[in-house]
Amino acid sequence: MTYPRNVMRPSQEWRILKVLQTPAPENVQLCPACPHPGKNLPEDWHDAPQAKHWLYALFVAINANFRLKRRDVSKDKVDPSLGDGWAYFVKHKDYKTYVKEHTSAVQEKSTCASHNAVNMADTKSNHGLATTGVGTINCARHNMKRGNGVGDLQKGERYVNMDYLFFSTLRGISLDVLNISYDIACQWHKKLWVCMDSLPSVMHLNHPNMAITFFIPKFHLPAHIMECQTRFSWNLIPGVGRTDGEAPECGWANINPVTLSTKEMGPGARWDTLDDHFGDWNWKKVVQVGSMMLHKVEEALPECRACQEDLRELELVIILEKPSFLAEWKIQLEEWEQD
Ligand SMILES: [Zn+2]
Ligand SMILES: [Zn+2]
Repeated sequence: MTYPRNVMRPSQEWRILKVLQTPAPENVQLCPACPHPGKNLPEDWHDAPQAKHWLYALFVAINANFRLKRRDVSKDKVDPSLGDGWAYFVKHKDYKTYVKEHTSAVQEKSTCASHNAVNMADTKSNHGLATTGVGTINCARHNMKRGNGVGDLQKGERYVNMDYLFFSTLRGISLDVLNISYDIACQWHKKLWVCMDSLPSVMHLNHPNMAITFFIPKFHLPAHIMECQTRFSWNLIPGVGRTDGEAPECGWANINPVTLSTKEMGPGARWDTLDDHFGDWNWKKVVQVGSMMLHKVEEALPECRACQEDLRELELVIILEKPSFLAEWKIQLEEWEQD
């Protein structure tokens, strides 16, 4: 159904007024379960012993959606966003300028399995399209969109776009443990810090003083070479619980029904409409997070007890067979985890 222009304009204005009702300065629905110093962490969280720092880790997941296209109609000047950079999308002009200036950089081919996202990033057809999709950064454990972590793609999933979005959403964070999930993390992380230097200094992370770990989401990992399957596995690194890292994939089913209408919109109307839908998704998450966490705890506790019981039985068998082996085994395991 096509609405007349005198209905569409007020609806866009109404959406932006709703964004402004969200608590400033972020204008986004923050994830209440992720760590926010000064908001939901103890004052002395920074002084926690090293062994407890995993408690204050931020988990982010990176992904792209190629259904959220936009036809090449209208222009930014004719149809600007009414809230440019106020919520989930990045500030468009700065982002566009950066991508344009760095678009000639040739993307290194994958040395892992043949990843289309890496090798075909520059070849994806954009005929008749102003935007081929969006890249996003979510919180990986609760699947909420992060502020200033969404941006349009002009071709495939190029590093230049994803780097900007990643550093944009993490601007100003003061946490020191960061776990990053990305299905091409094994390739993308290699030149990440070199790329960071080409971004404005306000977007830089103090990475030498942070514990940053790269992961590949669990469903995607078996397609990688064996080296990646040990190095980037959520199953083999301590302090990350049972995270699967697949969060953004689960949210696309919610946003994809709007792709048919937003594909035909001018740039500003589309940005503001999508921002509104991302805000709605986050708001529903905020409302449900309490019952969701309770449900997870209720499922996890009996499973945890069952695993502890299995381990106890195994250790008992080892003690009966060869008592010294159990102590050796624990030392080896801890050494391997520390490495
Ligand atoms: Zn979260
Ligand atoms: Zn790999």
